[in-house]
Amino acid sequence: MARKRVYEIARELGITSRELLRVLSDLGMEGLRAVSTVSEEEAEVIKELLLERAGKKEAPSEASVKTKEEASTAAVQKAPEKEKPKPGIPRPPVVAVLGHIDHGKTTLLDTIRRTKVAEKEAGGITQSIGAYQVEYNGRTITFIDTPGHRAFTAMRARGAQVTDIAVLVVAADDGVMAQTVEAIDHIKAAGVPMIVAINKIDKPNANPDKVRQQLADMGFVPEEWGGETIMVPISALKGDGVDELLEMILLVADLHDIRGDPKGELEAWVIESHLDPSRGPVATAVVKNGILRVRDVIVVGTTWGRIRALIDHQGKQIKEATPGMPAQILGLSDVPQPGERVERVKNPREAERIVSERKEARKKPPEPRFPRTFEELFAQREKKKLKLVLKAATVGALEAAKLELGTIQIENVDIELLHAGVGPITESDILLAASVEEGEPLVVGFGVRVDPKARKVIEQHGVPVRTYEIIYDLIREIELAGKRLLGPQYVETKVGEAEVLRTFKISGVGVVAGCRVREGKVIRNGKVKVIRDGEEVFTGEIASLKHFAQDVQEMKEGKECGIRIKDFDKVKPGDILEVYEVKVIQPA
Ligand code: GDP
Repeated sequence: MARKRVYEIARELGITSRELLRVLSDLGMEGLRAVSTVSEEEAEVIKELLLERAGKKEAPSEASVKTKEEASTAAVQKAPEKEKPKPGIPRPPVVAVLGHIDHGKTTLLDTIRRTKVAEKEAGGITQSIGAYQVEYNGRTITFIDTPGHRAFTAMRARGAQVTDIAVLVVAADDGVMAQTVEAIDHIKAAGVPMIVAINKIDKPNANPDKVRQQLADMGFVPEEWGGETIMVPISALKGDGVDELLEMILLVADLHDIRGDPKGELEAWVIESHLDPSRGPVATAVVKNGILRVRDVIVVGTTWGRIRALIDHQGKQIKEATPGMPAQILGLSDVPQPGERVERVKNPREAERIVSERKEARKKPPEPRFPRTFEELFAQREKKKLKLVLKAATVGALEAAKLELGTIQIENVDIELLHAGVGPITESDILLAASVEEGEPLVVGFGVRVDPKARKVIEQHGVPVRTYEIIYDLIREIELAGKRLLGPQYVETKVGEAEVLRTFKISGVGVVAGCRVREGKVIRNGKVKVIRDGEEVFTGEIASLKHFAQDVQEMKEGKECGIRIKDFDKVKPGDILEVYEVKVIQPA
């Protein structure tokens, strides 16, 4: 009996899978996923239900429903909003291809480009700009054509959020290999949805089920086995399954509601750049939001320019690049770095100012931060995250280190293993650590060396890297690194309190509270809480402490003094000022 996928029903109804799933779950059919199959009869029932639902006069504003398409859309619109709609309109998803060497990433990108890029206009340059767009089923997909997790994570290490969906290529004759695991960890760290392309199924020794099993063992259960991971068997060489892969990419784009707002703020990232002997600095950017236009004045990292020309992936000059589009930019004064953001500014003057400020800032070392307010003190106690990349000489050593790591427990510190692998510390390990946004990264090697090629990246990104020969040294150091994350601990102790007797407004200074120290002492560098009728009305710092006209460091019980509180002029007679001393405890 013929079966249909839920996404096919959605397509027949002229709505996205996401919309259909939302309605189905509303109808109590939440078990279904877009890739689930249902029988023809069930498909009909689903359609009937949608029509019926749309037909009911639930919402008086609902107009009479005529066509199937209108009916289903109406049903969708009536579905309770589970999440706030994102601004903008669906845009082409930006896809990156990752996987082990020789598993067919380049072949896949070539096949898709060769067979799916819309007919090129005469005179276009065939040279790659670093990304291309394909048309499938009347929709567009953008592919980044530098495959591999190094490029993927190098961009993230600079803060770029380029990729929306990752395609993991695993050769069916070879199965999951070291770089497959690495790629998965990089995808996980990026938090983007993943589709698996099980490649080379044309080979006689291909064993797709083995790949499914290996991935399932890693927690990625294929959807055909009841899991969540979409896996598509393909032959990148022969083109088999490529259409289904594109279908799945669009499906995931719908499920994740990938959107861009042409009217919104410009969000575009450089994915490729070089110096062209005749055209000068050339950079390709992918636009995620807003529109990039010829003549725009842009700043990219520490370079800027007025866009002289925009060139699309087929070598055509275009006037603007809309969300989801890659475009080559001409007119920059210097070559920017991949991963840098393209920002539009008002005029060349502003661009020059921003660039010179950035160049200045890069020269200065960052200022050490000390908590200033109670809020900051509090924030200091929030949970910290240590994110590790662990490399070991052998599988046995790696397992032993992982086991020992599991025994480390530090209050308020979570230790998370971003990636664990066998072999030297490589450039991609460093980039993965450098791309950590939340928490602190640390790359550790157990009985392994740092690949010489990784050194430059270590310097560039300032990622901490340590290598050890003895497991207990490794564990002790990780523990210490975790404790250091907590930073100096600040302990505040109440040292006394004062009562406000009267207040004075001093022009140009603010309000000074004339107080009597009721208990303990008041200190010049103390923190202060203002208590009014038993309630805390303000917390902050003492800005000045005076005895008559004299600045003093502290005032003892029974004495009178003038206290000015930083950023607080609403102090009133009768308020109680509790004074705290903050002590710093350095970690071991
Ligand atoms: P990459 O290193 O992942 O980019 O892999 P390539 O795309 O360079 O492919 C490595 C080798 O595998 C090449 O010789 C390809 O021709 C071959 N290859 C790639 N895809 C397929 C496929 O679907 N079937 C077969 N038989 N060979 C493939």
